[in-house]
Amino acid sequence: MRTSWLLPLALFGLTWAESASAGQLTYWKFNVNQSRIDLVTNSAIQPRAKVVTNPTRLVIDLPNTTFRKLKSRRKVSKYVREVRVAQHSRSTTRVVIELNSKYTLSPRRVLVRGISPNQWYVQLPKFFPVDDAEETDRESIAIRVPPPKIPKPSVSSPDPVVFDPVKTGARVVVIDPGHGGADPGAVGIGGLQEKRIVIDVATQVMQLLRQQQINAVLTRTSDVEIDLPPRVAKAEGLKADVFVSIHSNAISLSRPDINGLETYYYVTGYRLARTVHNSILQGVSVSDRGIRQARFYVLRKTSMPAILVELGYVTGSTDAARLGTATHRQRLAKAISQGIIRYLQGR
Ligand SMILES: [Zn+2]
Repeated sequence: MRTSWLLPLALFGLTWAESASAGQLTYWKFNVNQSRIDLVTNSAIQPRAKVVTNPTRLVIDLPNTTFRKLKSRRKVSKYVREVRVAQHSRSTTRVVIELNSKYTLSPRRVLVRGISPNQWYVQLPKFFPVDDAEETDRESIAIRVPPPKIPKPSVSSPDPVVFDPVKTGARVVVIDPGHGGADPGAVGIGGLQEKRIVIDVATQVMQLLRQQQINAVLTRTSDVEIDLPPRVAKAEGLKADVFVSIHSNAISLSRPDINGLETYYYVTGYRLARTVHNSILQGVSVSDRGIRQARFYVLRKTSMPAILVELGYVTGSTDAARLGTATHRQRLAKAISQGIIRYLQGR
């Protein structure tokens, strides 16, 4: 097993010439709950990985990649003692996940996968006490890393959203569920979280549109935090016909009397806003707080007709009770998708 690691060392001298064109590690995050690390670089790479024992460390090398300074996160969890990222050699960035000395893992169950040539993740298997380890799990071992998937249009974002057109040449609709991950968005009555409401509604809208042969895609498919620029970049990169951002509103918890639907546009989205807004009012019980103009980032920076729908107030007694039910969210999704379809048909 050792020779495979000596070879890259032997070639080290040769890689110096390339280091001038090395890419950078632009994002990394270790997710404790999912036992997974995400790595994003600004150029295509093929990582190498190995598990070293005593204590168990997972070592991931990113060739032809630079990373300016050492970053480490200690006492990550009961099982993970430290995650550190550093420039290992002139042209290699090294990521080390070191387990607490009492625990180990099965190296053969470690998955290193490329969502695209510049977006990789490593899924760690279950941790277990070192004393329970089988003989074969006690050796250092290189991990097989398959080549990355090559998605069609790829936009840099930490969420593994892959565009998979339902029909080539059909209209493209980007649905943007607000917030996510560490950012819950508005939090209302009973701890009702905006991020959970909007991902559910947005996912259903996407499915309903795809059933109608519209190429609908989400800006996030899971509970991850994404900045605003990659949301816009996704829509621009796919040359979307329509961009629909979905949010829910909030005001002070002392104002449960404020409830209702608001739809925002900036310059180009007025007809889309009106069509979707009216479709929701027809199909769902919610009071009408109007169609409004606002300089929201996702509305200003998108070049296609774009709107932002505030489904209701999580702090409102009427809206919160409704938004908390699956039936209401289903009705909202149906009404929004019908509004988008009507808009695309020019009605
Ligand atoms: Zn929001």
